[in-house]
Amino acid sequence: MHKNTISQEVNELVIDATKVGVWDWHVENDGLVCNERWAEMIGYSLSELMPVNYQTWLDVLHPDDLPKAIKNYDYHCQGQSELCELEVRLKHKNGHYVWVLSTGKAITWDAEGKPTRMIGMHQEITFRKRQEELLATTTELLRESQEIGKLGGWQLNLHDNNLIWTDETYRIYETTPQEFNPTVDLGASYLLPDSKEIFLAALDAAIQHGEEYDLELETYTIKGRKIDVRTTCHVTYVEGVAEKLSGIFQDITDAINDQRKLEKSNQVLKELNDKLKFAANYDPLTHLPNRNLLADRMQQALIKAQRNNNQIAIAFLDLDGFKEVNDVYGHDIGDEFLCLVANRFKTVIRDGDTLARFGGDEFVLILDDLDSHHQAREILQRILSSIAEEFIIENKRLFVTVSIGVTFFPQDNSYSDILIRHADQAMYRAKELGKNCIHEFDFENDVALKLQYRELEHISNGFSNNEFLLFYQPKINMETNEIIGLEALIRWQHPTEGLLSPFRFLPYIEEEPLGIELGKWVIDQAIKQHSEWRRLGIAIPISVNVSPLQLQHEDFINQLNEVLFLNNSFQAGQLEFEILESSIIKDTQHIAEVISQCKQLGIRFSLDDFGTGFSSLSYLRKLSTDVIKIDQSFVIDMLDDMDDQAIVKGVIELSKAFGRSVIAEGVETQEHGRQLLKMGCHLAQGFGIARPMPASAIPEWINLWQASPPWICK
Ligand code: C2E
Ligand code: CA
Ligand code: CA
Repeated sequence: MHKNTISQEVNELVIDATKVGVWDWHVENDGLVCNERWAEMIGYSLSELMPVNYQTWLDVLHPDDLPKAIKNYDYHCQGQSELCELEVRLKHKNGHYVWVLSTGKAITWDAEGKPTRMIGMHQEITFRKRQEELLATTTELLRESQEIGKLGGWQLNLHDNNLIWTDETYRIYETTPQEFNPTVDLGASYLLPDSKEIFLAALDAAIQHGEEYDLELETYTIKGRKIDVRTTCHVTYVEGVAEKLSGIFQDITDAINDQRKLEKSNQVLKELNDKLKFAANYDPLTHLPNRNLLADRMQQALIKAQRNNNQIAIAFLDLDGFKEVNDVYGHDIGDEFLCLVANRFKTVIRDGDTLARFGGDEFVLILDDLDSHHQAREILQRILSSIAEEFIIENKRLFVTVSIGVTFFPQDNSYSDILIRHADQAMYRAKELGKNCIHEFDFENDVALKLQYRELEHISNGFSNNEFLLFYQPKINMETNEIIGLEALIRWQHPTEGLLSPFRFLPYIEEEPLGIELGKWVIDQAIKQHSEWRRLGIAIPISVNVSPLQLQHEDFINQLNEVLFLNNSFQAGQLEFEILESSIIKDTQHIAEVISQCKQLGIRFSLDDFGTGFSSLSYLRKLSTDVIKIDQSFVIDMLDDMDDQAIVKGVIELSKAFGRSVIAEGVETQEHGRQLLKMGCHLAQGFGIARPMPASAIPEWINLWQASPPWICK
C-alpha cells in the first residue's frame, strides 16, 4: 500500500470520530446505503429503518425544507454546483427536529446526464443553529429596545477618523446610511451654537486627555427639526494608546419637554402659593394684615406676653364719618382715603406693632411688649392726632376722626376673639361719648360676657323649639347641565326677627357644646331629607358643612355610624362633608384619620372656602379631600379683578396637579360660568344657578331645571 494514501481503516476511524453519517444513494433502483451514525442522528438504529430508501429520507424531512432540497438537487443535477449542500431539519424518533448539514455529490450519470449514484454525509448542526437563532433574536431585541429607548450608538476610530453610527442614530437624525455619511465635523455642524461649543471642547478633551463625557445637547436633525440628545463618550485603549471613542446617542426630547413642563407647573404653583398666602393674610386694598393674620398675631402676642410676663393692648379703631366720604365722593375716593388713613396710622406705631384691617373702616391694633398701660395710651393718642390734619385727594379736602376702644391683657384675661370683641364694645362707648376719643374697656363690669351668655341662651331655646331648618343650594356640572349635588345650609326661623343667616348665630356657638349638637342635628336632618326625596325619585348627593371642631369631637365617628345605622336605606356614598377652613384646626393628624375612617364608609370630602385660610395649601397636602371648593370671594370678583382671576386659575391648576376635582362657589352670572369653563372648572354653585331654597322647593326646581335649555349654551 502506498505510504501516502490513507487506509480504509483510517477513513473509517475518521468517520467514526467526527460522528458524520454517511450515505450512498443508488438513484436508479432507489437503494440507500447508510452507516449506523446516519440513523442514530435521528434516534434510530439502522436495522429499525430497513429497508432504507429515498422515501425514508422524505419521511423524516421537515415539510418546509422540501422545496429547498428539491431546488438544491436540481441545481446540482444541472451541473451548476460542485457540491449539493443543504441545511435541513430531520424528524427525530422522539418527535423533535434536529438540524443536519447534508453534503452530497453525484458520482455517476446516465446517458441523459441524470445522476445515477450520489454519495454524501450528514453532520448534526443543531447546536450551531440554536446559537444562530439566539443571536438573531438578541440582535433583534437589542435593535427594538434601542428603537424604543431612542438609543443609538457611535464609534470613532482615532487612527483613520472613521465614524460609525448605529441604525438608531441615523433614525434619531431622521436620515439613513444611504443618504448621509457621518463625520465628526458634519455631525457637529448640526448642533446649536452653545451645544457645539460644549461638544467640541468635550471631544477635544476626550481625544487629548482621555476624559470621558456625558452631555445633553441641542441639535437639528438632517431634516431640520430641533431635538434634545444625550451623548456619552468612552475611550478604549490598546497598549496604553487611545484607539477609539464610542458611546451612546439618545433622543431625550420628550423627557426634556416633560421636565420643562414640570418646571413650569412648579413655577405656577409657587406663584399661586405666594398669591394665596398674600390673599389669605393681607387686605387687598390697604395691604395691611387681614383678620386671618390678625388672629395669628394675636395668638403669638398672647403666648409671648404670658411667657415674658408683660402686657398687651388690643385696640379697636373705627373711623368717624367715613360713610359720608364714601357717599359724597364715591367708592374710588373712599378706597384711596382709607389707604391714606392707614398710612398715617402706620407712621405713629412702633415697628413690631400689628395694625390690621378688620372690615370696612375698622382696624385692630395690637401693641405688645408693653411695660405699662400708659405707654399704650401714648401711642393711641398719637393715632388720634395723626389724622387731625386734612387729607387731599383730587383737590378735595377731606377730614376724618377716629374712635378707639382698648382693652388690656392680662388684666382682661380672655381668649383672643373675646379680647377683640371687648375692644369693639369699648369703641362703641367711645362713639357714644362723642367720638374722636379713646375709651378703655371696663372688664370689671363686663357687659359683653353677659351678652354672649344671653345670645347662647336664645339660640339654645330656638333649637329646643325646632326653629332651625335647612335650606338647600344646588351644584351643577356646567358641561352636562347635570345636577350633581345639594348643599345643606342652616337657617334660623326666628319668631320675631324672621329668617336669620348662619352668620347671625353660628359665631356665638362655634366653640360651645351647642355648636357640636347643632352640627349633629344638621347631618341627621340632611340624611332624613335625602331619604324623603328618594321616595320622590330624586337621588342627588347632599353635602353638609362640618366645622373642624365637630370633626375633632371624640364622638364624631360613633354618632355618624349611629345616624347611618338608623337610616339604613341611606347610602353613605350620597353624603359629602364640606370642611370649613378655620384656625381651630389643631390636630391635622387626627382630622386626617377621621377623614380616612369616613372615606371607608364611602363619604366624600371637600375643602370649603379654599384660599381664605392661612393653611389652605397645607390642608390640601395633609387632608385627602376629593374636592376643592374655590371660595366665593375670589369667584364673585374674578371678572374684573385680575388678581382674583389669577387665584381662581391657580386653584384650578392646583386641583389638577393634586388630582382633586374642583368646584366654584359664588357663580353669580352665566358670564362667571363661561369664564370658569374656559379655565377648566366645570362644577359650579351660586346665585346665578339657584339661591339656597327650602327643601320643599327642591323637587319643582329640579323639574324646571331639567325642562329648560342648558344653563350655558355652547
Ligand atoms: P359656605 O359653606 O361657604 O356656604 C356658601 C354660602 O355662600 C351660603 O351662605 C350661600 O348662600 C352663599 N352663596 C352661594 N352662592 C352664592 C353667590 O353666588 N353669591 C353670594 N354672594 N353668596 C352665595 P349661607 O347660607 O349664609 O352660609 C354661610 C356660611 O355659614 C357657610 O358658608 C358655612 O360656612 C356656614 N354654614 C352654613 N350652614 C352650616 C351648617 O349647617 N353647619 C356649619 N358648621 N356651618 C354652616
Ligand atoms: Ca359650604
Ligand atoms: Ca364657601
